[in-house]
Amino acid sequence: MEKLVLKNLSLPELKNWFAELGEPSYRVKQIRDWIYRKGVFDFAAMSNLPAALRERLSETASLRSLETVNSLASERDGSEKILFRLEDGETIESVRMGMESHSTLCLSSQVGCAMGCVFCETGRWGFRRNLKQAEILDQVLELRATLPEDQRYNLVFMGMGEPLQNYATIVSTLRVLTSEEGMGLSPRRITLSTVGLPDRIRKLATEGMKVGLAVSLICGDDDMRRALVPGHVKQTIKPILEAAEYYARVTGRRATLEYVLMAGITDRQKDAERLREITRDRPFKVNIIPYNPGETEVQMLLPGFKAPEELRRPTPAEVEKFVGKLIPAVPAVTVRWSQGTEVGGACGQLRGRDANG
Ligand code: SF4
Repeated sequence: MEKLVLKNLSLPELKNWFAELGEPSYRVKQIRDWIYRKGVFDFAAMSNLPAALRERLSETASLRSLETVNSLASERDGSEKILFRLEDGETIESVRMGMESHSTLCLSSQVGCAMGCVFCETGRWGFRRNLKQAEILDQVLELRATLPEDQRYNLVFMGMGEPLQNYATIVSTLRVLTSEEGMGLSPRRITLSTVGLPDRIRKLATEGMKVGLAVSLICGDDDMRRALVPGHVKQTIKPILEAAEYYARVTGRRATLEYVLMAGITDRQKDAERLREITRDRPFKVNIIPYNPGETEVQMLLPGFKAPEELRRPTPAEVEKFVGKLIPAVPAVTVRWSQGTEVGGACGQLRGRDANG
């Protein structure tokens, strides 16, 4: 008999399942504490449950939806990229980025991604399937288990996949993450990054969870964006920005625009002017992300260019020059030099394959 994966159940479903087993409601609380607060993966370790119940649970249910295949740690910045294998043999990657005072756990939401961003290893790999709730929660629990005790951490959905294409699962996962009955995390510690699906951004705004929203603007020009994000060609920038503005209004949280800086392609004078125009009087922060080259060198003909261009990471001086063109018109600009570049764990470098494979 196939076992029930408990972390795929919403919190009300978990309650109902235990009621059907004839267990009193306080048992649900005990189990939730073991699963989500203590991060236990084995029913046998749940010491305050009767032995007969532990045995019954072990026979009918399962607490693990992925296994660690390998991990690569960066000596430079302490970040670690972890490769997980899922039950059907698919693989995903997650990243733990270390800061002195807290860590950031970067989660995947899909196996692969349909957006096909030309600057992203996951995009080149293509879409395989959506992740299930348990597979997302287990990334959090596995990564959390690697942290020093009591260290603060934030969660970012910036790994493999477009989270809003896995909408229902992401929303129910966020409820487990933020509910007092689940992990009890503050929504302020969670950021969801999307390439920009306007209808889903608007819908998320009304779910009442107020997690942070980051929109991968990538660049400020529709034609260039179509070339760089071929899986999203029908989407223009204006409705994305309107949806992000709506999100900020409803949730009271300023949205972040993520701008990928590629030397000679998105860092020209006219690119800075566009970005200034886009953000004028709007509730946005801007993250400038210098392009992280993956394993594949990318050269392509881009709109407005006569010959194929190679995607190139800008130098620190080029980044500084571009930022200088934005300030002070764009008030909140941060440059995010990604961590984990040398272990292939930075933005755009996740590919869900073994380091050797
Ligand atoms: S950058 Fe994000 S949206 Fe684009 S292909 Fe990669 S994972 Fe998908």
